[in-house]
Amino acid sequence: MIKQNWTTEEILEIYSLPFLDLIYKSATVHREHHDANKVQVSSLISVKTGGCPEDCGYCPQAARYHTEVKIHGLLPVDEVKNQAMTAKENGISRVCLGAAWRNVKDGPEFEQVLDMVREVTKLDMEVCCTLGMLTENQAKRLEEAGLYAYNHNIDSSEEYYKEVISTRAFEDRLETIGNIRKTSITLCSGGIIGMGERVEDRCGMLKTLANMTPQPESVPINALVAVEGTPLEKEKPVDIFEFVRMVATARIVLPKTQVRLSAGRTGLSQEGQALCFFAGANSIFAGDKLLTTPNPEINEDKSLFNKLGIVPQAPFEKHAKRKVVEKEDSQYVPLGENPKWTRPEHTIERNEAAKQKAKDLK
Ligand code: SF4
Repeated sequence: MIKQNWTTEEILEIYSLPFLDLIYKSATVHREHHDANKVQVSSLISVKTGGCPEDCGYCPQAARYHTEVKIHGLLPVDEVKNQAMTAKENGISRVCLGAAWRNVKDGPEFEQVLDMVREVTKLDMEVCCTLGMLTENQAKRLEEAGLYAYNHNIDSSEEYYKEVISTRAFEDRLETIGNIRKTSITLCSGGIIGMGERVEDRCGMLKTLANMTPQPESVPINALVAVEGTPLEKEKPVDIFEFVRMVATARIVLPKTQVRLSAGRTGLSQEGQALCFFAGANSIFAGDKLLTTPNPEINEDKSLFNKLGIVPQAPFEKHAKRKVVEKEDSQYVPLGENPKWTRPEHTIERNEAAKQKAKDLK
């Protein structure tokens, strides 16, 4: 039976075990629940890049920061389908469609995303979307289109969240996650380490994820990629052993979940990645771009898999493929929704500094 009443202290105790004891324990849990030589491979397509009104302190796509991100509007369905076909030829089982939106708005752009989901699902690939906040009706429409997973990260502990983002609250994240859970879409939710948080915050984030019922089917663990122009540009890279500790602890408290190595993988050596796989990571993002930050090339990943004897997980191995309902047969109509979000009153000093920098540059 999976434990779901974790306290931060209990998780901290695991995180703080002697390193070799920790990875021995996590590797044991991993082997009880998964094939240790199989890794799921996803590819990320940024279907709409930049210009986001939110203020996530780590994100180069926030319109208020001055970064080198090349902004583009929503991609045509055919282009997304072609990119997905190339990914499939490279042995990738899941495509994650990311749009830099604060929330989904009913209208032509959401209809276009629904068409993308239908077309890529018909290629026999798992489709994940990360589109920001969404309502129950929007989640149901994505489910009908065949969506396999929805990504909505909680980013950090509830306490540290407001240090990084002020334009919405932790509860807003949980509300969208609740809407996903009213469908059969699987949940992908994780966070980022290296944003200046304490170890307690890392464990607090894992506590929130591990106490969800059911636990998320996938949990991405990101190491911050400090991008120039964002408020977190000066944060130091995460130490490899801290990163492995985070992966191992996630594996222990989330035994059945796919633990995904996400942003920050370019900072890891092949040996470091092998250690992460041993500790319980069993999913990666492949391709040379992860939304807007660098990621190892697909050929490097193939070579690492060969060296380690790892095989890619086939699509729909963990959960069945959804039936695609065509638009004209849909049970749900657009309700003209544009989900509201809270705007806590507090300000963030680092974000204010970035705004000042932007003004100075004008
Ligand atoms: S992380 Fe997402 S919501 Fe936050 S600024 Fe970036 S694109 Fe917007």
